Amino acid sequence: MKLILLGAPGAGKGTVAKLLTKMDGSVQISTGDILRAAVAAGTELGKQAQAAMKAGDLVSDDLIMGIMGERLKEDDCKKGYLLDGFPRTIPQAEALKTLLADMGEELDMVVDIQVPKEVILDRLTTRRTCEDCGEIYNVKSNPTKEEGKCDKCGGNVVQREDETEEAISNRLDVYNEMTAPLAGFYEKEGSLISVDATSSDAVIDAIKAKLG
Ligand code: ADP
Ligand code: ZN
Repeated sequence: MKLILLGAPGAGKGTVAKLLTKMDGSVQISTGDILRAAVAAGTELGKQAQAAMKAGDLVSDDLIMGIMGERLKEDDCKKGYLLDGFPRTIPQAEALKTLLADMGEELDMVVDIQVPKEVILDRLTTRRTCEDCGEIYNVKSNPTKEEGKCDKCGGNVVQREDETEEAISNRLDVYNEMTAPLAGFYEKEGSLISVDATSSDAVIDAIKAKLG
């Protein structure tokens, strides 16, 4: 399947994407993961993205479209892709539309995952992420077996640099201002489904029902 996962930081886009990859071999593409890997590796891309990311601001549309223009042409996209954290602005959505039209591809749907703000805030402050494989944990609801070590790969499990209270609050403001309008954009295109759900399984069920 080919879909976009919309939703505020902490809405569960990554978790839902990981569950969906197991269904049909679609690949999860997270621009956040790609950028964090570039920062960790100290590449030119990483250097250009680092400051904005740390503050919880968006990286430029040009940089993101450069990444995604290449990424969507890779072989593993043939079975489908789950776009997690992209597009995040109207110009990115417009550019994606052109890119897909050029490639002769169409999305199955755009899923807007809606979660109450209190739940989001609580999740983001308790979230921990594996530096190596990106696996997500939660100190309250889903801790690692061994403190600070990833169950899957043994990597260091840490609080992200942009998960300070200040950066989180900025990320939520940026989301409301820049990304939330995408729901209206895709509603007009007729491809939007909105799911009010704090459980990832409920989101998966809604997607399955829509795919038929
Ligand atoms: P979140 O948990 O906030 O959804 P992500 O892992 O998707 O976090 O993104 C982390 C950061 O990477 C963002 O705060 C932003 O700086 C940058 N980023 C990721 N995707 C995009 C995008 N599509 N456009 C602009 N910046 C992005
Ligand atoms: Zn790991």
